[in-house]
Amino acid sequence: MRYAIYCGSSKGIDRVFTKGTISLAEHICQRQHCIVYGGASVGLMGVMADTVLDAGHSVIGVMPTALVDKELQHPQLTKLYQVENMQQRKAKMAELADAYIAMPGGVGTLEEIFEVWTAGQLGFHHKACAFYNIDGYFDELIKFIQSMVAKGFMQQIFLDKLIVESDPEQLLDAISNYQAPKDKWS
Ligand code: AMP
Repeated sequence: MRYAIYCGSSKGIDRVFTKGTISLAEHICQRQHCIVYGGASVGLMGVMADTVLDAGHSVIGVMPTALVDKELQHPQLTKLYQVENMQQRKAKMAELADAYIAMPGGVGTLEEIFEVWTAGQLGFHHKACAFYNIDGYFDELIKFIQSMVAKGFMQQIFLDKLIVESDPEQLLDAISNYQAPKDKWS
């Protein structure tokens, strides 16, 4: 199983986010799974890549050429795809992954997970989308999404199928057991 990991190019103020990232990375390695991510050495992106690489597992990076210096491309990647722009980055990561995990991050992280989640709702793929909810980071966002359902802008089934977990073991189990809902327009 290869997970696309979307996460912050910052570490966040509280160390709990770094600890949680290391824990998820260790669980991924214990299962002999691997990751594809944005290819940077900064923030939680770097923590995730370092931990998986240190354990001897495979890490694929996908980075637009224009960001190679700015986001400090990770020097030890198993493989790096250099692409032309953000659209190609997202498309390549989506293609290479069997499931998608968002961890704490900023708007870049949200943009990436929302793109694959909406594509899943439309039936363009049938892979799991998950929020790794370290220290309740996504609680407010999930409340807002619940209000979207309550106000009739989203079907309950798509929220039910979204994986939101703070425990890495349960997060990965939920992804393994995932069954996609019917497509939005079917
Ligand atoms: P952030 O969550 O804002 O710290 O960003 C995390 C990662 O998402 C960084 O590697 C950003 O370069 C990347 N990112 C930001 N916007 C986009 C986008 N539109 N498409 C793909 N990646 C993005």
